[in-house]
Amino acid sequence: MTTSSSNRHSVDPQTLRQLYIDGAWSAPVHPATLPVVNPATEEIVAEVASGSAEDVDRAVAAARAAFAGWSATPVDARVVILGKIHELILERKEALAQALSLEMGAAISFARAMQVPLAAEHVRVARDVLATYRFQNVENGTAIQREPIGVCGLITPWNWPLYQITAKVAPAIAAGCTVVLKPSELSPLSALLFAQLVHDAGLPAGVFNLVNGSGAEVGAAMAAHPDIDMISITGSNRAGALVAQAAAPTVKRVTQELGGKSPNLLLPDADFAAAVPPGVMSAFRNVGQSCSAPTRMIVPRNRLAQVEALAAETANAIIVGDPQSQATVLGPIANEAQFNRVQTMIEAGLSEGAKLVCGGPGRAPGFDRGFYTRPTVFSQVDSSMRIAQEEIFGPVLCIIPYDTVDEAVAIANDTVYGLGAHVQGQDLELARSVALRIRSGQVLLNYPAWNPMAPFGGYKRSGNGREYGIHGFEEYLEIKAIVGFG
Ligand code: NAD
Repeated sequence: MTTSSSNRHSVDPQTLRQLYIDGAWSAPVHPATLPVVNPATEEIVAEVASGSAEDVDRAVAAARAAFAGWSATPVDARVVILGKIHELILERKEALAQALSLEMGAAISFARAMQVPLAAEHVRVARDVLATYRFQNVENGTAIQREPIGVCGLITPWNWPLYQITAKVAPAIAAGCTVVLKPSELSPLSALLFAQLVHDAGLPAGVFNLVNGSGAEVGAAMAAHPDIDMISITGSNRAGALVAQAAAPTVKRVTQELGGKSPNLLLPDADFAAAVPPGVMSAFRNVGQSCSAPTRMIVPRNRLAQVEALAAETANAIIVGDPQSQATVLGPIANEAQFNRVQTMIEAGLSEGAKLVCGGPGRAPGFDRGFYTRPTVFSQVDSSMRIAQEEIFGPVLCIIPYDTVDEAVAIANDTVYGLGAHVQGQDLELARSVALRIRSGQVLLNYPAWNPMAPFGGYKRSGNGREYGIHGFEEYLEIKAIVGFG
């Protein structure tokens, strides 16, 4: 790997190797850095600070000191600051989109249209929820008081870097908590821009702190920290379980948003020509690197040939290319480890005997470097195959045939995960009844518009707790009953 001379991110070079603690940028206790690799070129484009457990201590101390003041700050004042953060995200959207594109390969049009605006939405929603939230209800002489839980440790992944950050930071600070954020070490540039933006919005010192670094060092220190009251992690099941283990001795609250293997169940009365193409595009959105991507398309056996043809036509028309090109739909996979994992899973699909409809192993045509992957569709997939059971987190779709609706529901539920699900069908009554039988945190009927108020989170091994909207906000609150309140 070589170091690129033309860095497109606009992170202040002074802050790249620093942490944001107690309202100011400062060097880590032990000077160390981690490289940031552009997955389109495989070049190192930046070196960021790699913090340590001592830096976590400093950040937690700042967050603890700020908690009394921030939690007592009137709602109106908190609403104003959240509004300012929202405004600054929109004002700086181009810089944020460029940083995201550089750090994880998002197609620039996708970063501009989705990654940044949806991240801003979490801030707007948190502001609006806070503005009307009733923190106290008195019933039969007992007051039910909701209070911020305290200092929160927030750990985020690389696939939707800014969106995952705002989904945690915004409700946490809206609720009156103070936070220590550890973004993914693989995509820390947008997080640095976000820290500067929060500073410029006038958030008091210590309310928001950023410690870049590895999961094994910084993340683990946060999970075990005796003065952190709650950890919220979005990431792999491996990391989610390690965090819960490390957090257990201090009995802190742990919320986990983890993996998924979401079904897209096409009922026999679905309009297949209308339902298959958006199903393929949803599975491949963000190069398939979305935890709730509907990667198992469950279809009537007698429609299999039609579905395969529609899926192939859709997948073959996708432009895979340089994330900087406006025409690009899918950039590269975000990092080398993930690229290798996706390749392994495509090979597994072939060796298990699934039918390759399009795509396949190797880099996308025309590329000899960069983690460009071929949009791949497998059909005649059996639910017991690895590609039907394991999260791939790349542009790989499995088409699984069924004979009866009961069998289709059983296939949809034949997974350790339970994050998202889709159901397509013209008879809404039937679609609703099928939705009720699927064990997952969200079910989307007939591709509705994204709803930032809809709670998001997992059944089974997809996690614990909910994010977004009022439910996400309430994760950061404790409940106090004052009996004899009058
Ligand atoms: P990852 O688990 O490797 O990393 C996620 C975060 O956890 C990173 O910040 C990492 O540094 C940190 N981490 C790693 N080990 C840790 C440890 N021992 N202690 C504390 N923190 C640790 O995951 P990833 O590869 O960045 O993200 C991909 C995964 O995230 C996929 O499995 C995907 O499904 C999942 N994901 C889930 C959601 C959701 O909302 N459910 C959203 C996005 C991604």
